[in-house]
Amino acid sequence: MGIMRLRNARLLDLDTGTASDPQDIWVQGNRISRRPIEDERQVIDLHGRIVMPGLWDVHVHAGQWALASRRLDLSGCESAAECVELTRQSLVEHAPDSPLIGVGYRDGMWQQPPSARLLDEVSEITPIALISGDLHAAWANTAALERFGFGGHPSGHLVETEAFELQTAVNNLPDLVLDEWVHGVLQAATRRGLVGVVDIERANNAVDWRRRFASERPPPMRIRASIWPEWLDAAIAEGLHTGMLLDDTGLLSVGPLKIITDGSMTARTAWCRDEYVDPLQGYPHGMLWMAPEELESVLYRARSAGLDCAVHGIGDAACAMVVAAFAETGARGTIEHAQFMRPGDIAALAQLDITASVQPAQMLDDRDSVDALWPGLSQHVFPLASMAAAGITLAFGSDAPCAPADPWLAIELSVTRITDAERGSWHPDERLTLSQALLCSTNGVRALVPGARADLIALDENPFEVEPERLRTFGAWLTMVDGRVVHSWEE
Ligand SMILES: [Zn+2]
Repeated sequence: MGIMRLRNARLLDLDTGTASDPQDIWVQGNRISRRPIEDERQVIDLHGRIVMPGLWDVHVHAGQWALASRRLDLSGCESAAECVELTRQSLVEHAPDSPLIGVGYRDGMWQQPPSARLLDEVSEITPIALISGDLHAAWANTAALERFGFGGHPSGHLVETEAFELQTAVNNLPDLVLDEWVHGVLQAATRRGLVGVVDIERANNAVDWRRRFASERPPPMRIRASIWPEWLDAAIAEGLHTGMLLDDTGLLSVGPLKIITDGSMTARTAWCRDEYVDPLQGYPHGMLWMAPEELESVLYRARSAGLDCAVHGIGDAACAMVVAAFAETGARGTIEHAQFMRPGDIAALAQLDITASVQPAQMLDDRDSVDALWPGLSQHVFPLASMAAAGITLAFGSDAPCAPADPWLAIELSVTRITDAERGSWHPDERLTLSQALLCSTNGVRALVPGARADLIALDENPFEVEPERLRTFGAWLTMVDGRVVHSWEE
């Protein structure tokens, strides 16, 4: 068993923000041990750096995230015309017959709606498919509509089911290629201090991750692989349950069953009690994907199979339905997003042992849309402090690639709610303290006590001693997962 000594570590107390005097930490195998052990094999001098538990992102779409890392980034576009222009520029160096894929556009505030015609002006030959930042919409030219099975589509702007089908078609890459890209984004994320993610990709995750862990370059962090309903029968038949290890590295385990109940905010498909100011035609309240009875029956089934449930709820009516279904069935798990929560729904959720899995960095993209779509109600959107005050456990994620898989960006936004320098804090009453924010990011670990898993990070500075607006610049000097250094800037 390997023994390692981390010299001159200043342990951060996440409750008080104080750092200890420099001390040595021993890591024996994959556990912390503060007992001096004689024959350490490896010594790393941290020179007084701050050491704290490693960070988690409890909501990523690993495959999409990897794909997005290699695609045209449209997240900065403020209009359809800007997207068209960027697409035109990137076509210059593009093989005409291979599809050009862009990601990250957000049309919620655009004057001119996306249409196939606009992209046909860029190219009538190269298939162009653009995927929205929240993944709930897609925009294609005529060549792409034909290539991917949507020939004759009236507008070329696809939402919900059609958008997901188009994404499935464009994302169909050889496993080895995608696995390599996935490895790339995970390795980059260890530099931000991530030691684990919950993968909520819509894929046969148990199979995909076992393959990745069996490869020559296994993933550098812990992975909890979620199960989607289309693979639920197979999972139950195999006896998979949440927390069960899926391979012998000990890093890969079964995550929750993922269930989607409504759409997204910027696509105006989140299921809401009030009508949207400017709704999608035919959907004044957004879209509801399943009736309460249907949701309850899935939750009962998951519960008896030993599976936690990660249930997506964004609009206030969807969140209320999700909370009620957890209460009714006694299922365990998380409400994913919990984005638009009225006080009564927060109180109801606080009665349950259900975690709110939230994505603070999505405030960057959603702030303007929320203020426009639900004027007067935005104080109920991302109500982080209200949920925490009610006693609800929060866990941070990014929903990457919807927002960057950067735990420090999420931490900063949750404590400042400052989305841009020109404006003040957005509903400052709902800011968390830094202590709260860090504890939402460590997968429930409060301290690196002897016997704890050696999942830790070393930081150049104490996050409690910098201006909150600088937290997003943080990264890890060293990241250790399961007793193994997976990233370090050591010379
Ligand atoms: Zn998601």
